[in-house]
Amino acid sequence: MKITFLGTGTSQGIPVIGSDHPVCLSENFKDKRLRVSILVSWGAYTFVVDCGPDFRQQMLRAEVSKIDGILFTHEHADHTMGLDDIRPFFFRQGDIPLYAHQRVFTSLEKRFDYIFATENKYPGAPGVIKNVVENKPFVAGDLSIVPIDGLHHELQVFGYRFDKFAYLTDMKTVADAEIEKLQGVEVLVVNALQITPHQSHFNLEEALDFIAKVNPKRAYLTHISPHLGFHDAVEKELPENVFLAYDNLQITI
Ligand SMILES: [Zn+2]
Ligand SMILES: [Zn+2]
Repeated sequence: MKITFLGTGTSQGIPVIGSDHPVCLSENFKDKRLRVSILVSWGAYTFVVDCGPDFRQQMLRAEVSKIDGILFTHEHADHTMGLDDIRPFFFRQGDIPLYAHQRVFTSLEKRFDYIFATENKYPGAPGVIKNVVENKPFVAGDLSIVPIDGLHHELQVFGYRFDKFAYLTDMKTVADAEIEKLQGVEVLVVNALQITPHQSHFNLEEALDFIAKVNPKRAYLTHISPHLGFHDAVEKELPENVFLAYDNLQITI
């Protein structure tokens, strides 16, 4: 299985427009972060988790020519606003399978009504196949995917386990029964927004506590704000098996 970090930044990306925060002015490529998303490939299959405003740029940058579906964690704009840019995939492949909680589909149907229209649909609009995710395993490609349920302040979000790999973002609270589902994961990705506490995201300390509970072989931090600090400086302070993700990083499991 191959993982490509398409984006590792928080909702505004890094640099933030107009910001003079030192991290936003950094010339290190690892400090430049598009909105959070990953590409997961195995065998003949390629899936994307989330589809934010940078989706088009991310697909071009990673040279993706086919996707088998998009899994959504939740409906926030930084995870969904690129949906129109599935058009090139739709024109080549036909309807694109989406996997999301019903509440996320309700939100997407409002924002992208023309994509979900069943009457008088504009011919250039892309088509999708709705796969409603509940908190139980489902099949994508030839793999059983296990949703991991958590809270993002008060909003329900799904993380996803793909065999030995798990990806969780925008988490603030995860119940012990959900953490149990991560037993045996070799590589864990989890959100770590900043150093100071935040109402809806793990800060660095909470992310490290969560990683210690799951105890994977390796963990990567994502959904990073400028307030976490410079990539190279933060990474030096992390435990041996924990790394900061950065855009374009590829790992193989
Ligand atoms: Zn987010
Ligand atoms: Zn969010």
